[in-house]
Parts: sequence; C-alpha cells; structure tokens
Amino acid sequence: MSTLMVSISGVRGIVAESLTPAIIQKYAVAFGTFMNKSPLIVGRDSRTSGTSISNILKGCLQATGCEVIDIGIVPTPTVQMEILHHKAAGGVAITASHNPSEWNGLKFMDGNGRFLSPEKAGQVYELADRGDFKYRDWNQVGNEIRDSGANNRHIEAILGLQYIDVSALKKRKFSVAVDCVNGAGGMIIPRLLEKLGCKVIPINEEPDGQFAHTPEPLPENLGQLKKLVKESKADIGFAVDPDVDRCAIVDNKGQAVGEEYTLTLAVKFYLSKKLGSVVVNMSTSRACEDIAKYYNCPFLRSKVGEINVVEEMVAQNAVIGGEGNGGVILPELHLGRDAPVAIAIALQSLLEFEGSAEMLVQSLPRYHMVKDKINIEGKNPDIIINKLIDQFADKKVDLLDGLKIDEENYWIHLRKSNTEPIIRIIAEAKTAKEAQSIVREYTTIIHKLS
Ligand code: MG
Repeated sequence: MSTLMVSISGVRGIVAESLTPAIIQKYAVAFGTFMNKSPLIVGRDSRTSGTSISNILKGCLQATGCEVIDIGIVPTPTVQMEILHHKAAGGVAITASHNPSEWNGLKFMDGNGRFLSPEKAGQVYELADRGDFKYRDWNQVGNEIRDSGANNRHIEAILGLQYIDVSALKKRKFSVAVDCVNGAGGMIIPRLLEKLGCKVIPINEEPDGQFAHTPEPLPENLGQLKKLVKESKADIGFAVDPDVDRCAIVDNKGQAVGEEYTLTLAVKFYLSKKLGSVVVNMSTSRACEDIAKYYNCPFLRSKVGEINVVEEMVAQNAVIGGEGNGGVILPELHLGRDAPVAIAIALQSLLEFEGSAEMLVQSLPRYHMVKDKINIEGKNPDIIINKLIDQFADKKVDLLDGLKIDEENYWIHLRKSNTEPIIRIIAEAKTAKEAQSIVREYTTIIHKLS
C-alpha cells in the first residue's frame, strides 16, 4: 500500500502509485491559483521522474497565468535562494528529499524564499481538494524562462560569507571525500569544494537519480564514503541527501559521526564569531543547547519541520539554527536548511581548529541519540500520547510537539506520525546504553497503554 504524504513539508508519493500526473496537476494548479503572481521558480533534484513532473508542474502553473523560471537540477536551498535573486513570487522544488528513487514530490515556497507557512500550505491543500481552480485565457497564459546560473550563484554567495576565509582554505588545500548519492549535490558540491581550494574525491556525483544506496545520510548508509575516506586518507568526508538540505560528516578515520554533529559544529563555529539567539527543533541534540549556554546566548526550540524552525528563528532574530538531522540554517545566507553552507562551515571550523576532524568532533559536547518507531496500528495515537502526558505529569514535560520529557540526564521525545500508524520515539543520553534502555522502557509503557 502506498500513501500520498501531504504535510507542511509538501506533497510526497511513489511515482505512478500515489504520485500520478493527475495528483501533480491537482496540487500544481492549486498552488498557481493560490499564488496568482509571477514569476515562480521551478527547480528539481535528479530523480528520473523529475523532467516529467517538471513539465506537468510548469504547464499547470502557466495555465493559471504564472510565468515560470526553470532553474533545472538544483538543491532545494538553491530554489529558495533563487526566489530571492529573481524577486519571484514563490517557487517549487521537485523532490522527495531523502526518500528512495521511486519517490518524488513537491515542496512549495513563498516569495520570502521560505517554505509556505503551515497556514498557507493548508489553504493550498484545501483549494486542491475543493478543485476551485482559475485557468487563464489564451492571452494570459504564463511564459517559461530558463536560467542555468542558479548553482553558481549559490556557490558565489557561500564564498562571499563573512566568516568563510576562502584564501586561507585555498592555502590549506583540504583533501575532501564527498558522496552526492547521485542526487542534485553533484551539480554543486564538487565545484564548491574546488572553489574552496580542496582536493575533491567524489563518489556518486552523477546527478542521474540512480541512487547508489539508500539516500538518507544516516551512518548505516555511508559505507562507501567511510571506505573512501580511509583509502584516500582524506581530511574529512561529507554526504548529502538528494535535494542537498541535509549533510552528514565522516571524520578522517572513516567514522560516520552522526548527523547531529553537523549542526552542533555549525552552532559552535558561528557563535564563536557572532553572538545571538539559536533555534533548533525539539528532537535536536542537547549539545547545541550546551554550546549556546557556554556563549551565554538565548536558546529556543521549535516544533519539528523546517518552516517551524525558520518561523521561530525570524521571531527570535536568530543568528543560526536548524534541525539535528544535518540541516543547518544560516540566516546570513538565507532561511532554509542548506548542506553546501554546512560543508563550508565545517571546513572553516576544521581549518581554525588546527587538528584532525576526529579531534574536532571529540571537542564537541558528546551525547548519544536513539531513534525508533512504535507500531500502533489500529490505535489512536492522540489517546496514547494523552495517557502518557497524564502518567508523567510530575516530570519536566514539554507539549509543544507531542510529548517531550526533559530530565537532567536524558530527554525523550514522543510524536505521532501524520502519515503512518506509528509513534516516533527519540531519546538522548550521555551513553548509547542509557539512551537505548530509555527507548526500551518507554516502548514497553506504550505497548501496555495501547
Ligand atoms: Mg532533503
């Protein structure tokens, strides 16, 4: 059984099953009708279904009177930056993010270069279901323009960031292994690294959508990169997901250190340069909080989901933020998760640290996180979560997004999934053993409750 996932992160499904041309048309004309302004930026990752979906999407947007600017195969954050560059009314990234190659989807963006707010996304979905579309007459159909400069502009913007010392990096000549998993990263990451003076050792850099491995940049999927770093004696390795908003680090010993360290490293680097508020989501490592405390900077948590983090960052005027799954958001560049900027920051950190990548990671606060899901098929997740809230009323709980219990030596976050009959369970503690036993303990409690 396949499911069309419709959430604040956009629409996602399996091509030809839940994501058919008719479904793409439905959401595309709804978005065009809702935006009703030009131009709209359209970019896509490298998936084999990308051109087909792009043609349907563009045709639908044009039919609703919107001019489209097609920027080709680009990271999702590049679409966000191009909206600002072209002073566009909004845009769409065609991608299923970290999902396997049979998936694709649409991420909708507003004229401020951010994802649509949850309210606006809800209005687009409502419009799509209602079918209340406005098509334009023959003389008002939107034009299509092509622009192939987007990836280069993204690179140049990163090279121009105030704390990235390009000439010092060029002198240092880091040897960098990179795995683009045959996603859109191949269009930008190797070139960015070259511009930073690195010796680039790429794998899976062909943006052909034939993902060489499960594309989510989790340690268990990075076997090839770990081996490559070791064999090539690289200083560091980077893996990105197909739409290049998440980045994971492999240290010089070939160890996949876990995605949480990408944001932790970026927060430490940025606060050492510029003090200010930090915003991360509720499932992000406490390591970021420790660093913010060290620098005496305000630290806030938002609901999970890029737009939720971004909206809180805007409210707090944050200098840096993101999501622990490798998603760094640097407002100085733009308000979206951006793997290319995460890579530039990691390299600049390594340069200034004057030690190995392994030592650099060891210099960060150390925690262990365990993520799992509990099958609750046939049960109501809200009832389960509410029972848990009652049961743990004496503990330090946070109810912003599901239930988070925040104790001195650990935290645990329980959230229902909006698309699957599961409860997500994430725990963090000082050791892997502790985190595992906490997950086990709460899994047993939930099974008893349900
Ligand atoms: Mg992604």
